Amino acid sequence: MKKMVILGAGESGKGTAILAQQKGYDVLVSDAASIAPEIKSLFDQKGIRWEEKTHSTAEILQADLVMKSPGIPAHVEIVKSIRAAGIVIQSEIEFASKFTPATIIGITGSNGKTTTTLLIYHILEKAGLNVGLAGNIGTSFAQQVAQHDFDYYVLEISSFQLDDIHSFAPSIGVITNITPDHLDRYNYDFSQYVASKLRLTMNQTEDQFLLFNADDAQLKLAIEQTNSAAKKFPFGMTVVTQPGATFQDETIKINTTNTTTMINTTQFPLQGRHNLLNAMAAASVASLLDISKDSIRNSLLSFTAVEHRLERVLKIQNRTYINDSKATNVNATFYALESMEGQTVWIVGGVDKGNDYSSLLPLVREKVKAIICLGVDNDKIIESFSPVVDLLVETQSMREAVKMAHQLADKREYVLLSPACASFDLFKNYEDRGNQFKEAVRGL
Ligand code: ADP
Repeated sequence: MKKMVILGAGESGKGTAILAQQKGYDVLVSDAASIAPEIKSLFDQKGIRWEEKTHSTAEILQADLVMKSPGIPAHVEIVKSIRAAGIVIQSEIEFASKFTPATIIGITGSNGKTTTTLLIYHILEKAGLNVGLAGNIGTSFAQQVAQHDFDYYVLEISSFQLDDIHSFAPSIGVITNITPDHLDRYNYDFSQYVASKLRLTMNQTEDQFLLFNADDAQLKLAIEQTNSAAKKFPFGMTVVTQPGATFQDETIKINTTNTTTMINTTQFPLQGRHNLLNAMAAASVASLLDISKDSIRNSLLSFTAVEHRLERVLKIQNRTYINDSKATNVNATFYALESMEGQTVWIVGGVDKGNDYSSLLPLVREKVKAIICLGVDNDKIIESFSPVVDLLVETQSMREAVKMAHQLADKREYVLLSPACASFDLFKNYEDRGNQFKEAVRGL
């Protein structure tokens, strides 16, 4: 019996343990922290061995195979020892993909992964395909492979999950964009981060597709430099290649090698240029899978906004409140500000991950009438934006931030929470931050 050690007992660890046991491995789950009680009892029920708050190094180094959860950094001691012992480390998607013949659509990028993944899933599901949704969303891919029999999987894939793939290759890969984020995990080296995203395509063959945002100059350049064999499929506002997808006269135009599909977007419910790019990517994937134009269009029209992503909360006394709490970096906030159709009171701040705010200055000058800094340390925001905005105030309470915003915004104006920062100084996570915002707005 082959021995498999699973490092980390979160969602991907749990799923991998279930799948590995089903496929006949002798499994040990080892977590340096404590394991959630419900996961421990699930392991006990299934007879899966586990340990918490320790790693039994001697036993772990006897493993034939190790799955490292994506949250565990490569530099921790146990990971170094495993590598030094020459034991293969695989990520969950690498391991699970070997046990399913399904067609895999894999989506990565710095921003827009969740939205694009959900859009693609929505279109495929509405078209009647037998499709699963996994990756960074919901139940892990591995667990679904163990428990379902889908023909297609739409997987949201973070760069951490790509770090330990060896042969994984999606039939259709999508890279939404690459902008600086998580640089702390890549030695503050942007090129390492880019390289890790491009691992999505490194094992693809010439009958597989790689869709990428050609408006993103750095991504486009990186794609030109890869030696991936995949058929390249650029999408963007200026793309004219075949295959490729572009946007003209309110219409998404998709050229696959043998068809052209035109989809009018005038009634499309998602706001902002970034969402057009996400829709272009999703509609292109669907076209490559031969889903009809009408079906794609109807699905795009029936897709509702994803929570905490440019989510319209309420209109109160003709002031519109928008929750974009998931904007945890500058690029996401760029698109949020770009899509504001009037003067905006902007709530921003939190844990700065090395932000450079200069790209926001023109938009802020044009659209932002007041800034509410919602963070423990707001110095950089104040320093960056005080030359272009007259009114900047600070608070550490969401309720107060919303109250002040309500006083500052006039009729037909917007209140936008788009923090450009992580949330951990004042909130549990971005969901908590977004929920507190919505609660405060509803309480006005
Ligand atoms: P991810 O899963 O990559 O974090 P999300 O779909 O959750 O992406 O969106 C995260 C943030 O980025 C939100 O603020 C959203 O409005 C914004 N966003 C969505 N799509 C894009 C895109 N294509 N480019 C830039 N920002 C985007």
